[in-house]
Amino acid sequence: MILRDYHLTLRDVSDQQPEYLETVFSLANGHFGVRANDPISGNPITGTLINGFYETAPITYGEGGVGYAQKHQTILNLPDLRHLNVATNTGHRFSESTRTAVDLDLTTGTLDEEYELKTQQGETIQMAVKSVIGQNQVNFWGVSYSFVAGNYAGGLLVSKAIAVPAEAEAIPSADPRKTRMAGLPICETEFINQRLQRYHVKTRTTKQAVTAFLGMLTPNAKLLQQPLDLGDRQAHTLEYEAYVGEVGEQNTIDPAAQFMISSLSALIADSRDFWQGVWHRSEVTVGGNDELNLAIHYNIFQLNQAAGRDGRTNIAAKGLSGSGYEGHYFWDTEMYMLPYFTYTNQPMARQLLYYRYQTLPKARARAREMGVTKGALFAWRTINGEEASAYFPAGTAQYHIDADIAYAVGKYYEITRDLDFILQCGFEMVLETARFWENFGAWHQIGASSRFEFHTVTGPDEYTALVNNNYYTNRLAKHNFELIGYLANEIRQRYPNKLADFGIGPADLEKFQKLADHVYLPYSADLQINEQDDSFLSKPRWPADKSTPENFPLLLHYHPLTIYRYQVAKQADTLLADYLFPEDLSVDQLKREYDYYEGVTTHDSSLSRSIFSILAARMGDPEKAYKYFMDTARMDLVNLQKNTADGLHLANLGGSWLALVAGFSGFYVQDEVVHFANHLPKEISRLTYRMKIAASVLEIDLSADKTSVSVISGPIPTYGVSVNGERISLVKSSSYEE
Ligand code: BGC
Repeated sequence: MILRDYHLTLRDVSDQQPEYLETVFSLANGHFGVRANDPISGNPITGTLINGFYETAPITYGEGGVGYAQKHQTILNLPDLRHLNVATNTGHRFSESTRTAVDLDLTTGTLDEEYELKTQQGETIQMAVKSVIGQNQVNFWGVSYSFVAGNYAGGLLVSKAIAVPAEAEAIPSADPRKTRMAGLPICETEFINQRLQRYHVKTRTTKQAVTAFLGMLTPNAKLLQQPLDLGDRQAHTLEYEAYVGEVGEQNTIDPAAQFMISSLSALIADSRDFWQGVWHRSEVTVGGNDELNLAIHYNIFQLNQAAGRDGRTNIAAKGLSGSGYEGHYFWDTEMYMLPYFTYTNQPMARQLLYYRYQTLPKARARAREMGVTKGALFAWRTINGEEASAYFPAGTAQYHIDADIAYAVGKYYEITRDLDFILQCGFEMVLETARFWENFGAWHQIGASSRFEFHTVTGPDEYTALVNNNYYTNRLAKHNFELIGYLANEIRQRYPNKLADFGIGPADLEKFQKLADHVYLPYSADLQINEQDDSFLSKPRWPADKSTPENFPLLLHYHPLTIYRYQVAKQADTLLADYLFPEDLSVDQLKREYDYYEGVTTHDSSLSRSIFSILAARMGDPEKAYKYFMDTARMDLVNLQKNTADGLHLANLGGSWLALVAGFSGFYVQDEVVHFANHLPKEISRLTYRMKIAASVLEIDLSADKTSVSVISGPIPTYGVSVNGERISLVKSSSYEE
């Protein structure tokens, strides 16, 4: 049976531009990604992205300053594995191609495409391409090309090789979201025999290397000059595989012997097996809406494809689907994408947090560079842990990343009770970030009372920079201080003397609690809302005559200082804090705040709409929640931000999952109780989804008059569960799987 909502085809996407299709139909497995270049006319020297394989180049500032980020870090865009040359045996090259059909199967991870190929002389043939990337065996990618006669039915010569780029400089772009070129790496290739090509690439500055192999799977066929005869009008198929090794030291060359897979079908089986696991623990079904179902399945699929699984790599803002944002990891991971993993795949969540942990020494050094004597400051955007943001007002000044990481550690622990992780990595991260806040902030005495403040920071809203007391930053820092106390208590209960190993004692814990109690949270008594920062509400609003569609996104049309003068937000900021801490404010206050900030938010960032959707659901406006959700769920499929060609908007993909789970089903965890509340809009007749927490898979089922939570497999969990405000006891589902 074909499940329509698990197949993405050309009909399901709004744009047919090649670069857009390359992104949308890209395959990846956390280790590397293959953009869906047209195998004939696409660019043969770019198309493969390896997570964490990058080059650096000095950042040149017209006017530099102390502590400015020193180096660009840029993910390398390596040769396209899909490219091949096809010619008639009389030497006419098939140089034109048209992609006539595409089908990405989200249950198996297989991409099927059809092309019509044409020579300049007008000869045509049909080509079907099937490709798949290994999901358990993450070093592999496989492809088959099948040729059928068109108006041409004679001999063909097919040749395939990994291309080596010629030296070329990329043209710098004025769009800061695009990638830059950090200098080409050094590539060598050699044909080990007629069926196997080795490709070795090493970076110039980062001292990394990767070895890849391209090999034939079809017996007796050759990589270069393989003749075929279409005279019989049958399909003739050639199968190839590629092996992409680990990122290693410059002098490592993987031995060829280790790499062969047996067949393309073996790789498809590997991939299917992986996706079965993903859908088992995180399937989502939106009743009565195939289009929406497909979109959400696609988003979950791409989220899984993008995430580095080895603890050394993370999730780039564009995943492995494009080189936009240079392959950098941002706070996007902890706040938008990690929740999906924390609640469906805890070992993965742990790996993603571990990546941050191994950058802790660099974060400590960065804090010192920033004049803060204790603690650690994680990089705003990075691959290797060093700060790579050349524009500090919207980069390093987003200190909130520290508290975001601490928050994510807390959420991970809350649901897993994984004290080993806390002892090995988590506690140190939370402690070092708390120490940073302690030494970065300042006491402000007002009359008899004093409060703890944070000055000259940028919150999530990148259209408002270098302000005092950004509400989001302060609220998250307060939580960072509180989390230390909570985790210390958890550790002490099991290991009474362990805290001394971290160099803290009861006096430190008291100090952190005092700081938490005194962090200043700006509030406007006039408007009765939390204030985005000390100055936001007093600025003029963005002028109406600069608000017509061609002025957006503002960042591409106005100098940052012009934008900063106004009360205009790129994305959810104070509202993001409201979403994270539902206990902080009444529904009435939430409504006031929502109305206010909605009026000044442009959603120029793709990280915005999902949060507006969640909060609208929570405050009882399901129609508005649905409207924002639709933009979120289909963002890349409709090319809403108009830059999907540079890569998918990974944070939004995670956000669309959050909008369903935290929004329409009111999910949140607090004080060891998992809460659900039914906020379904009328457009969604039913929402069913799964979560995996520890060894138990839960199924949540909502419709207009029903909200149920049951156990699909694994033991009955011991944590409390509340549905629509009432505690329930979990039971096994009628479809419980032993
Ligand atoms: C957003 C940031 C985000 C970055 C990477 C920017 O447009 O404003 O919040 O971290 O994109 O996705």
